[in-house]
Amino acid sequence: QANERESMYLVSEFASKYFQKVMHKTDPGKAIGLSYFKERGFRNEIIEKFDLGYCLDEWDGFTKEALAEGYKLEYLEKTGLSIVKGEKQFDRFKGRVMFPIKSMSGRVLGFGGRILTNNKKTAKYLNSPESEIYHKSKVLYGIYDAKQAIAKEDNCYLVEGYTDVIQFHQSGIENVVSSSGTALTPEQIRLINRLTKNITVLFDGDAAGQRASLRGIDLILEQGMNVKVCTFPEGEDPDSFAKNHSDEELKEFLEENSMDFIRYKASLLMEEAKSDPVKKAGLIRDMVTSISKIPDNIQQEIYLGECSRIMDISENVLYSTLAQLNAKAG
Ligand code: ATP
Ligand code: MN
Ligand code: MN
Ligand code: MN
Repeated sequence: QANERESMYLVSEFASKYFQKVMHKTDPGKAIGLSYFKERGFRNEIIEKFDLGYCLDEWDGFTKEALAEGYKLEYLEKTGLSIVKGEKQFDRFKGRVMFPIKSMSGRVLGFGGRILTNNKKTAKYLNSPESEIYHKSKVLYGIYDAKQAIAKEDNCYLVEGYTDVIQFHQSGIENVVSSSGTALTPEQIRLINRLTKNITVLFDGDAAGQRASLRGIDLILEQGMNVKVCTFPEGEDPDSFAKNHSDEELKEFLEENSMDFIRYKASLLMEEAKSDPVKKAGLIRDMVTSISKIPDNIQQEIYLGECSRIMDISENVLYSTLAQLNAKAG
């Protein structure tokens, strides 16, 4: 269905241009959309670099314009840009600021749209639905604008949100991508793996997702990559931190707080286990499971040694746990 996909790419590209035009050239666009981004501290160059836009707070402003320009309703519906109900059509992203999501080669695949006020009733971010051109498990927000810097720096920062990516660029750090709220997948990691073997995962300082994210990180080890993690201070995320600190302070913070993942996990688990031996046994197995994902034997051995020291347990026990796990895995 190459033609169908091509039509979907074209209407998505049109939408991106349209949302930008609306934001920069109309009164409500400037007063609502553009000023929202300005208030977040985004400068013009960065707003343009990421093709940020605004969808008017009207029922069908975008859909009408697209149809008038000759784009077919079929593709507006398939990309999820328009919602069709009987004879009527609505703009999915009504009243939201728009973040186009691009492929590695720069084609618009879909959008994230954010509401302007934080209320509990409406989802803060709304994304394009899965479609023939947008598979959320296979895309990383920011990859197109990061790929050169990732290769050059030989490292990739992985953040949680769209605005973290954008604020980092504004602070001069361009080797950064976001999984945009979804759990990390092997396909997403593979995109990075083509460019570098080194990932630094940056956590929001709210602890919520942190424990859950540890699993996803094992997937990075499985691909033979090196992982570091860095946690932001309580209540901060990479966006807010970068906004409130100088470029130098941000770089310094990242350098001082990036920790090797295995070391980080071992200390985290140790803290949880404290003096509870039953819990500790489970956590040691958890730890060795992470180490078992590392394809390189020498690297495994180095980590087992460190783990033994951090967790205060003999290397022999760790080796036999590893052997058990390997036997089970076949
Ligand atoms: P902002 O700074 O604009 O409030 P954020 O990026 O800090 O947003 P988080 O709450 O940290 O938002 O969530 C991280 C990412 O998860 C978001 O960028 C978005 O991609 C996704 N996300 C958050 N909330 C939702 C939601 N309600 N529905 C869908 N995706 C969401
Ligand atoms: Mn642009
Ligand atoms: Mn956040
Ligand atoms: Mn944020």
